[in-house]
Amino acid sequence: MKAKEKLRRKISSGGRVTPAEALGLFSWDPLELGAAADERRKLIHPDETVGFILDRIINYTNICEAACDFCAFHAGAAALKPYELSLPEILAKVKELSERGGTQVMLQGGLHPRHTLGTYTGMLREIKKRFPAVCLHSFSPSELDHISKKSALPLDRVIGELQAAGLDSVPGAADLLVDRIRARVSPRKINKAGWVKVMRALHARGMKSSATMTYGMGETLTERVGHLKTVREVQDETGMFRAFIPWSFSPKRTKLEGMAPATGIDYLKIVAVSRIFLDNIRYIQAGWLTEGLKLAQIALAMGANDMGGVLTEEKVVQATGSGTKAGMGDFIDLIRNAGKIPVLRDSDYKVLDRRPGKAHK
Ligand code: SF4
Repeated sequence: MKAKEKLRRKISSGGRVTPAEALGLFSWDPLELGAAADERRKLIHPDETVGFILDRIINYTNICEAACDFCAFHAGAAALKPYELSLPEILAKVKELSERGGTQVMLQGGLHPRHTLGTYTGMLREIKKRFPAVCLHSFSPSELDHISKKSALPLDRVIGELQAAGLDSVPGAADLLVDRIRARVSPRKINKAGWVKVMRALHARGMKSSATMTYGMGETLTERVGHLKTVREVQDETGMFRAFIPWSFSPKRTKLEGMAPATGIDYLKIVAVSRIFLDNIRYIQAGWLTEGLKLAQIALAMGANDMGGVLTEEKVVQATGSGTKAGMGDFIDLIRNAGKIPVLRDSDYKVLDRRPGKAHK
């Protein structure tokens, strides 16, 4: 049997694909690869549902001492003025989300030089006090590392305090887990080992996360597979990732402006290879915010099975000038037109509504 046929059978029977095999998948015809990934998706999710959540990203400050070259959001990157939201402003945003039936808040901001642990626990406590039903899926591994350093407290203690104040889970903002690239584009942020360390510390506290991947910053295909391998290993060890979310780097308005952005085919191949290689992660999200709604819709036929959040606000991707905006009606139409069944879910991927659009505006 030819090697390709053998690999095709391995994929359709649910076998574990090696990093070398994953690398080879990038040279497959995109439609053939997408069909193989879709077969793999069906082994885990035969019901054709595609979930989404009503959430809101609250970017509470763009003041950031990391000043990463690949970031268009931090004050100083482009024409953006520094800002810091006050607690009443943050609470007003959560109220708005809650009144619209939203269930998840993602607090995310820059690594502010003067914020202390109390700044973060204060935010969480005040939100939870007023909106106990809202899930606080917030901060990032870099923010947790930053808080630990600023407060001179061990990571485990910081996570414990944040958890006690109301933090429910943490998005696994991984960027690209390749130190060669990190040293160039985000030298003041944690490296790959630092990211894994934060993940292990979160897991030790029983917290769930997600894993992401920002590709297209000059890495090789082998390095992309290396990123996926790290994610798969951490998931084998912890089982903490509820989803994997790949998206392409947008060079516009960053210090790397001029770099050629990744293509749509690159994106679809990443989605498909992720679905096949990450056999221990149930949900692969279609990154509509960065890739656009139409490409995200195609991704649903190539391994993705979740649309992420209907964001009522987001500033980080919008800062690159390439962010897409969409409402719940757009999501429902898009999913139905892809031949799938839209379902409204919570942060834990539990279905809340099998006929979304009726009760929510
Ligand atoms: S990516 Fe995050 S850490 Fe880096 S500059 Fe932007 S806000 Fe700061």
